[in-house]
Amino acid sequence: MIITCNKCKTKFRVLDRLIPPEGKMVKCSCCNTIWKQHNKYEMPSQSGLWVFWIITFIITFSILYIGLIIVFGDQIPIPQNLHDFLKDIGIPVDGGALFGRSFER
Ligand SMILES: [Zn+2]
Repeated sequence: MIITCNKCKTKFRVLDRLIPPEGKMVKCSCCNTIWKQHNKYEMPSQSGLWVFWIITFIITFSILYIGLIIVFGDQIPIPQNLHDFLKDIGIPVDGGALFGRSFER
């Protein structure tokens, strides 16, 4: 990353890994000004964390939803194309079918 001295505006090229996200004290080699430099590349890791949580939520929700469909069958509202897809891959969606045993409600 490129950091700029607050006082003399000199620009310096610094390796990203040398500046931690919480910041580090740096000293300008031109005017000897000392300031705390924050890592400007903090944002991508934060958004990466959000992507991780959103994907985790979607996967968890999908597993719960398919589980409910398997246990409660046609009592759970399900889009027609998803219904056909699940039936194609062998997931029992018509009527209740708990652990492979069909049952009437
Ligand atoms: Zn300076």
